[in-house]
Amino acid sequence: MAHVSLYRRFRPDSFDKMVRQEHVVRVLKNQIAAGSIGHAYLFTGPRGTGKTTVARIFARAVNCEHPVDGSPCGNCPSCVALANGSLDITEIDAASNNGVGEMRDLREKVQYPPVSGKYKVYIIDEVHMLTDSAFNALLKTLEEPPAHAIFILATTEPQKLPATILSRCMRLDFKLIPEEDLEKHLMRVLDEIGKPYEREAVAAIARAGAGSDRDMLSIAEMCIAYSEKLTYEGVTAVLGAADFHETCALVSCLLHADGSGALEKTESILSEGKAVGVLVRNLLDLLNQVLVAKTCVSAERLLSLPKELFSQVKDLADGAESKAILRATEILAKTESELRYTTSPRIVLETAILRISCPADDYDIEALLVRMNALERELNELKTSGIRVEEKRAEEVSTAHKAPEGARDIPEAAQNAPEERAPEPDYPFPEEEPIFDEAYFSDMIIPSETLPKAEQPKKEPVKPSAKTPEAFKASAPAAAAPSASEPASVVANPAAAPKDAQKAFGQFMRTLRKTSRSGVLFTMCSDLEAEFEGETLVLISDSETIVRSLKREEHVKIMTEVFSGIGITSFEVRGRAQMPKSGGIEELKNNFKDYPIEFK
Ligand SMILES: [Zn+2]
Repeated sequence: MAHVSLYRRFRPDSFDKMVRQEHVVRVLKNQIAAGSIGHAYLFTGPRGTGKTTVARIFARAVNCEHPVDGSPCGNCPSCVALANGSLDITEIDAASNNGVGEMRDLREKVQYPPVSGKYKVYIIDEVHMLTDSAFNALLKTLEEPPAHAIFILATTEPQKLPATILSRCMRLDFKLIPEEDLEKHLMRVLDEIGKPYEREAVAAIARAGAGSDRDMLSIAEMCIAYSEKLTYEGVTAVLGAADFHETCALVSCLLHADGSGALEKTESILSEGKAVGVLVRNLLDLLNQVLVAKTCVSAERLLSLPKELFSQVKDLADGAESKAILRATEILAKTESELRYTTSPRIVLETAILRISCPADDYDIEALLVRMNALERELNELKTSGIRVEEKRAEEVSTAHKAPEGARDIPEAAQNAPEERAPEPDYPFPEEEPIFDEAYFSDMIIPSETLPKAEQPKKEPVKPSAKTPEAFKASAPAAAAPSASEPASVVANPAAAPKDAQKAFGQFMRTLRKTSRSGVLFTMCSDLEAEFEGETLVLISDSETIVRSLKREEHVKIMTEVFSGIGITSFEVRGRAQMPKSGGIEELKNNFKDYPIEFK
């Protein structure tokens, strides 16, 4: 038996079986019932919404001897004749028959009376594809049609039709079909062909159909062939869409400024063979859903996601600022168009991922707003958890930052702080002498003039005392590196690393910041630790993804240039796993055994 596609097999043969478009159906039914049928109709609307299907039902209905509620009865001689193919209904695909010859031909043939029914019906699909002269020939026919002729012009692009044609047609607009209705239709079809299915799978297919019944059924057909039961996994495998949960995890990293997490997730999704473009589209779709979930009361109904998936989207929405979602969307939308012109889509994507997940490294207003919101939230959390912020101190801090250029260095501010501040009774850490050699770290700190001014107040208002590790954390380049806020990575390992390795690395970072336009490279580097092994400067990262990325040709090239500019001829990037274990962390732990610090 020849294979018949689902769409053709389940194509509605009466108005009542149409999926939506009731506003169009109602008009046509009423005209049939009243016997006032026009000579020219224009059906417009997106592809796969039922224009040709309605045109065919209408063509049979106008010829039916006993129409049932406006639909063809299917039993009368006319219905039987038309069902078996009749000269009275002619379908012309204007995409392939767009010349003036075809329209002249039509103009002659339309004069002959119908063979079996009352009307001859011409359905001209994709009518916007006709040439100008073909439009003129058609116009002549539309101006003086024989009484037995009905023209139905169908198009997805009505704006391309000449006004003279438009003005002679009754226009009916078809609309995209809501996912809910697509789902219902798909479930009816699946029940009828006896295919078991998961509810999520149906929802995913309906979503992929994007308002088009024909597209949805073609997708369903591919998915049905994939496995015994229609499963969500099967559908995402067929569609090449990154798995929803993975995409959610990635978006969560993006919205919570987890740069290395975001890179890892991106790597893992792409390594499964997803195209960069597909991933960007998925991210944009998901971010859009998150924004809807964040802003609309009726989001659950609007998104028509399966319950479990909706709750994931809702969780993302509840945990993120609207500003952050909008910023991520804007950057990714730009990325999507950049992808068309680039030969290295992966780098473009990773740049975007890091820009989104490291707002601290981005100086535009949006990024600053995102960071400000995050600070406000943190401050409120701290306030509610019992830490008191004294207004006087906040003032001092802000004046310290309005001080002239030279006095604005972060380490200085940190050094001055203890004298200016009274002991903080609410803070859990005991007062003790500073253990850190702050001068030692000053090399790791990016000079303040290279940082945006808004960078500095980060965590300052709640900073209790510069003597505590907490304060130290704030004075280190946490602003530039997302994961630098973990104490262990900032505190580094003073015992094991010789001072000049840190100095050299600090110099490298400053030069990189000044010379390279690549914020990505800078962000990735700011998380590194440095050690000398003989003459070779070894750069160590906790993240294998960052190591791999830094070893790429274009990054190595820039780093080599910068290093040779500061007199270092040999360097190497390594993952932490490839480093010999040192006693430094143990020693540090001993020094800090009274502090609740986590070492990673
Ligand atoms: Zn009939």
